[in-house]
Amino acid sequence: MMHRPVLAANWKMNHGPSQAREAARAFARLHAPSKATIIIFPPAVSIEAVRAELRDRPDIAVGVQNISTEDAGPFTGETSGAMARDAGASYALVGHSERRHIFGETDAATALKCAAALRADLVPILCVGELLEEREEGETLAVVRRQLEAGLARLSPDQVAGMAIAYEPVWAIGTGRTATPHDASEVHGAIRVGLEETVGRRAGDIPILYGGSVNATNASELLAARDVDGLLVGGASLDAANWGRICAHGAHTAHSGAT
Ligand code: PEP
Repeated sequence: MMHRPVLAANWKMNHGPSQAREAARAFARLHAPSKATIIIFPPAVSIEAVRAELRDRPDIAVGVQNISTEDAGPFTGETSGAMARDAGASYALVGHSERRHIFGETDAATALKCAAALRADLVPILCVGELLEEREEGETLAVVRRQLEAGLARLSPDQVAGMAIAYEPVWAIGTGRTATPHDASEVHGAIRVGLEETVGRRAGDIPILYGGSVNATNASELLAARDVDGLLVGGASLDAANWGRICAHGAHTAHSGAT
């Protein structure tokens, strides 16, 4: 099964509306539309500014970094999926490791958030990944499979078939340490098998992104690895020139996702 590579930029808590507009403009100048799917995840307050700045670039999607489990009501400080959709988002990250490990987001919450994203017509990208001590204990595949199964627990096979997964080893996020292409492939292959149990052969169509200290130098070897269908990039996506270089690798890569 051939995939359009998916390249996603997670700006984390950087770039308010003015800076976000400038970064989006600079990136759009550098990146011509290509066969890659590009998604930018600005902070929620900057989604509308980025979508407006990119109004002539339907090839670049915008997403929200986190949504509430709830649709509306007395949940001070939260952002609903519908609000993010209204602001211009079409994707939602769910269960990013910073949400899990800094804010205590549980597997049960990721399941509710995947369902909430779909209610709001957002494509969820469920993030999974092990801690360093879990890898050292040989628990990587078990942890990732648990997070995957729990995150998908409330979804129908058709809903799962329309989403994406990101494998982000926690020890590789923002640390400069990257999984080798071989290690990434091993985990992506296990995720693919897990998805097959839910959606059968359609698992080959579900993009599985790798994330964790990706940069313009290591992007192409990671993208070339088996079962790696795209990249989720944090720090290196903040600079438009770097992000443009990473996307250029994606524009020239074709993937064989199915095992
Ligand atoms: C991320 O935030 O999803 C991420 C992978 O960050 P970094 O690229 O900075 O490691």
